[in-house]
Amino acid sequence: MTTPVYENFINGHFLKNQTGDTFAVKNPATDEVIYHVEIADEFIQNAAIESAKQGFAAWSAMTPIERSRILLKAVAILRERNDELAKVEVLDTGKPWQEAECVDVETGADVIEYFAGLAPAQVGQQQMVGNDFYYTRKEPLGVCAGIGAWNYPLQIACWKSGPALAAGNAVIFKPSEETPLGAIKLAEIFIEAGVPAGVFNVVQGAAEVGQWLTANPNIEKVSFTGEVGTGKKVMASAAGSLKDVTMELGGKSPLLVFDDADVSQAVSAAMLGNFYTQGEICTNCTRIYVHKNVYQQFIDELKTRTEQNIIAGDPMDPEVNLGALISKKHQELVLGYIDKGIQEGATLLTGGKALSPASAPNGYFVEPTVFVDCKDDMTIVKEEIFGPVMSVLVFDDEDDVIQRANDTHLGLAAGVFTKDIQRAHRVIHQLQAGICWINSYGNSPAEMPVGGYKQSGIGRENGIETLDHYTQTKSIYVGMSNIESPF
Ligand code: NDP
Repeated sequence: MTTPVYENFINGHFLKNQTGDTFAVKNPATDEVIYHVEIADEFIQNAAIESAKQGFAAWSAMTPIERSRILLKAVAILRERNDELAKVEVLDTGKPWQEAECVDVETGADVIEYFAGLAPAQVGQQQMVGNDFYYTRKEPLGVCAGIGAWNYPLQIACWKSGPALAAGNAVIFKPSEETPLGAIKLAEIFIEAGVPAGVFNVVQGAAEVGQWLTANPNIEKVSFTGEVGTGKKVMASAAGSLKDVTMELGGKSPLLVFDDADVSQAVSAAMLGNFYTQGEICTNCTRIYVHKNVYQQFIDELKTRTEQNIIAGDPMDPEVNLGALISKKHQELVLGYIDKGIQEGATLLTGGKALSPASAPNGYFVEPTVFVDCKDDMTIVKEEIFGPVMSVLVFDDEDDVIQRANDTHLGLAAGVFTKDIQRAHRVIHQLQAGICWINSYGNSPAEMPVGGYKQSGIGRENGIETLDHYTQTKSIYVGMSNIESPF
């Protein structure tokens, strides 16, 4: 059977590359190649830059309210095509349909809608200085690059293009080589909605294509989502032409469960924050610190619910709530971390093995895994695993657990479960993380800025302030009286 071949999406249409080089994309739940994609060669790269420059000229000349109307049409199309797009995400990522159907497209559409609404509300300042005055304009940056990870491909493309386009920029987006189709679908939808050709382009390929984007002097900004190590390379490369950067990187986030917490709610949060999207979420609370007084109750309920309520299998089955990991390589990496946890003395409470469900026997599944008897210096407690692997630790003292929670170079997210409102705020204010939850975990509405402290990131996505990351301020001084000159 021949599989489809997708070309790069440049200047409003698919464009064939010259080398003929392609890569294959597999369905992680079946291990089968589902389509091929052409790699962005030099011809495509040059065309993408020219296209984005022309797109920028057309798009930035439109009024914000015109841009807003068009983006809102794209939002309506995204929602109309929810099921078709959700299926693309399931086949590319291996995540369960029951998630993609109500989260991936929806949260992407929400963010574009949010920024479309804000587009006409961007205003500059004006201030008198004596008889003279100055005013400021919020101007777009120009051509921006977006580079995405594979866990939420369409959502990441929407989160990056929403604010960029609302502010009047053009975008060249590179999805992960593992999950290239969602961004192509978004590009088609933008064209259908009336976004001018060239405003949103999709280039395909692996690290080399990303490196080309980060080094290209025609690109003013790079918004990157991916691993910390890759983020450092991206930033170093972007420094060559002093590009603006936004970095959404990895995490090893703590969840603190105090002894007055609703333990069942805390277990729900811990399971969501470790097993949703089979653990492939950057903000996951992979270090669970539980107060010694509720520890036994917590792990008893966690074990029962993990063993009874998780259904792994064909991700398109609406009953399935645990999908396949993105690749064989990633499955092996996650299993390697589990081995390391055992070697270093942690105890498996449940899980720990690869899974081969009857409905998807060749998929890259890993059992939902919980380690207890964990110590802060174990590899599984220190490093991001990006799979369904939770480490549970015990604590006794509030100040001590805050210090332990903060003892990491990462700072993406954190959570606290307690019924004491003063403690909740006191503790959360001391946790070194950019995205925090109290008696909740993982919610990320378009209105709320998200991003990391420490090595988890730079800049923010979502929320009003993100528009500032896609604009530059021009100050204009206006003289109202004769110039006083000594010359
Ligand atoms: P990677 O860092 O491996 O890749 C991210 C993207 O960068 C991919 O498109 C990749 O291409 C590309 N890339 C790889 N090398 C370079 C380079 N030298 N220059 C430019 N681009 C490059 O991350 P993953 O895709 O493995 O995603 C998982 C990571 O993403 C986790 O660490 C996770 O925490 C983080 N993440 C962070 C989020 C946040 O908002 N903070 C959200 C989601 C994920 P290709 O894959 O095609 O090789």
